Amino acid sequence: MIKLKNDKQIEGIRASGQVLSKILKALQERVEPGVSTADLDTYSRELIGKLGGRAAFLGYMGFPAAICTSVNEAVIHGIPNGRKLRSGDIVTIDCGIELNGFYADAAVTVPVGTVAPDVRQLLDVTHESLYLGIEQARVGNRVNDISRAVYRCVKSRGYGVVRPYCGHGVGLAIHEDPQIPNYVGSGKNPRLKPGMVVAIEPMVNLGGDDVVLLDDDWTVVSTDRSISAHYEHTVAILDSGPEILTPWE
Ligand code: MG
Ligand code: MG
Repeated sequence: MIKLKNDKQIEGIRASGQVLSKILKALQERVEPGVSTADLDTYSRELIGKLGGRAAFLGYMGFPAAICTSVNEAVIHGIPNGRKLRSGDIVTIDCGIELNGFYADAAVTVPVGTVAPDVRQLLDVTHESLYLGIEQARVGNRVNDISRAVYRCVKSRGYGVVRPYCGHGVGLAIHEDPQIPNYVGSGKNPRLKPGMVVAIEPMVNLGGDDVVLLDDDWTVVSTDRSISAHYEHTVAILDSGPEILTPWE
């Protein structure tokens, strides 16, 4: 069931998104060669302590950290660890914040030092596809309009689109209906209404579409171990158009 949010609830999600945006901005600045993903997790907890709110992922289905950190071929749900980032790596930082009962969810892929041109292009195109999807998050459109915009952008460059994981409703919980796939499938295709709040999150591989779960039961990697990027915003669908509630750029 899709839960439409009233103005007061959207204001609450906006406030949560503002905390999350500050955290993702600060974490991006902290990324450099020699920093470990566990360092980033520790820093995220310090920031949440200062800014308020709660790490929505910590303990969710047993997840052991405040952020997901997915390096290189890892697509999503990487667990922070002591591995030090090196120049040429990329790391996706995905974070959910709950503030006063309202949830926001966002992710950014950050280059470490200098990355290869083909990796830089993967990041740019994945980010562009997120914005093309957001542009379609309009009253009267359908979920598939978002999905199609993301998919066309990514496939026009020959990249792989991750299918088993997708965007979602968000706001009163971290995961709500509807699903927002990054491809056009045969699933539910609800019309977009004012008051819907959705997390749009393209996950894009430099190689093929397929992904596989590692033995830690969390980390999802590309099956061909190609580099993978992921950007995410929480977006409110309003009569006035889409509003990004997690402006981390
Ligand atoms: Mg997320
Ligand atoms: Mg999400």
